[in-house]
Amino acid sequence: MNRVSVDTAGRPPSVDALARELSLRHSLPHALLVDFARRAIANSTTNKKSSAAELADQLAIEFSQSLLRDVINATGVLLHTNLGRAPMAMQTSNRASNLELNMSTGERGSRQSTVGKLLALLCGAESAIVVNNNAAAVLLVVAALANSRDVAVSRGESVEIGGNFRIPEVTEQSGARLVDVGTTNRTRLRDYKKAIDKRGNDIALVLKVHPSNYRVSGFVEETPVRELATLPVPVAVDIGSGLIDNTCPWLESRAPSWLSNEPAARQSINDGAALVMFSGDKLFGGPQCGVIVGRADLIEACAQHPLARALRPGSTTMLAMQSLAMSYLGRTATKEIAFWKMATIATADLQSRAEQIIATAKVGEVCALDSIPGAGSAPGATIDSFGVVIEGDHLTNLRMNETPIIARVKDNKTFLDLRTVQPDDDEIVIRALQRLAK
Ligand SMILES: *Cc1c(COP(=O)(O)O)cnc(C)c1O
Repeated sequence: MNRVSVDTAGRPPSVDALARELSLRHSLPHALLVDFARRAIANSTTNKKSSAAELADQLAIEFSQSLLRDVINATGVLLHTNLGRAPMAMQTSNRASNLELNMSTGERGSRQSTVGKLLALLCGAESAIVVNNNAAAVLLVVAALANSRDVAVSRGESVEIGGNFRIPEVTEQSGARLVDVGTTNRTRLRDYKKAIDKRGNDIALVLKVHPSNYRVSGFVEETPVRELATLPVPVAVDIGSGLIDNTCPWLESRAPSWLSNEPAARQSINDGAALVMFSGDKLFGGPQCGVIVGRADLIEACAQHPLARALRPGSTTMLAMQSLAMSYLGRTATKEIAFWKMATIATADLQSRAEQIIATAKVGEVCALDSIPGAGSAPGATIDSFGVVIEGDHLTNLRMNETPIIARVKDNKTFLDLRTVQPDDDEIVIRALQRLAK
């Protein structure tokens, strides 16, 4: 890479000259290059042009790399939080859509009604709405159904899920009071009954939360939805991961064993949950959003709450959810939903792809691997997989590939798990490996 030549030795370079220099190497808007040039000149330790130029170059490179773009997920984590959870292609066009137009009457319609109907049908519920994410779903449910009242939550489920989604804080933000029930390891139905009957409590809702990203074992007991449903207040269940039905009727084979402990929307509704909340971009395989399914009157209360407007998704999200729901209902999920494709691809196929890759790239070895669902889904579960292992740590090099490849390193070996790599991308992987071998 050629550097800025020093034409006025000793004097600090002009911002404009430096920005113009940068434009020879970086195809970024001029305003950005001016910003990098300015910051580089202000921060360069010596007054030499070359050091400011190097710093500006560095800023431009780092910025270019930070731009959102496609990457190849070779980590073996199917729903990788850093990689946007469920991968999916978004359909877009420049045309308008009938997002809020009732096509029968020509009058104002609801963006929620059709997608809501499809999601409700999928989950065996009366009604459904979509919001921006599952955190928003929980916030809205508690705000709409328990504002200025009490929400009963088991001490074992008063959890933090990734970053700053913490049940006590979400409840507080919704304007409800949290009533802790039972103990950290065991909470029984009679603990809930006691909380509801206790004078001074005004419990509007029982909130059950799936502790997605960890597992407690040993002397533990939780109260199942089936029992909670006998209580005189509605039960809202945050199942988190968005498995629609634990029998997975959209698969040709039986439900995979790694999903066996995962709560599902349809079964929770069957067991008597008044509402179920889940993420759209975890096991559902969709865009970032949250779904609330359940009793029509309670869904309506959520939809009418002022927060619903602030939490509503746009047309691209609604369109994606519509086509996903159609894929599930039409039993075409394993052909059309990227998540289910990678979750169900045969291990033998992964092995032969790995063999093909190393035969062509002439580097690395085939190895058996354990993929994981990720995003807090099915904690502790693994999915058999195959991939390629190469001696040494090549993470940075692979990340700098034209289409970045995100791999994982252990014991100074680099592993590329093929379960999370789309077969069409094997060519890119081969070329990247050939480059490494040089
Ligand atoms: C993932 C998860 C959330 C947060 O969902 P987002 O869609 O990321 O807002 C909340 N609750 C549970 C149980 C989860 O697993």
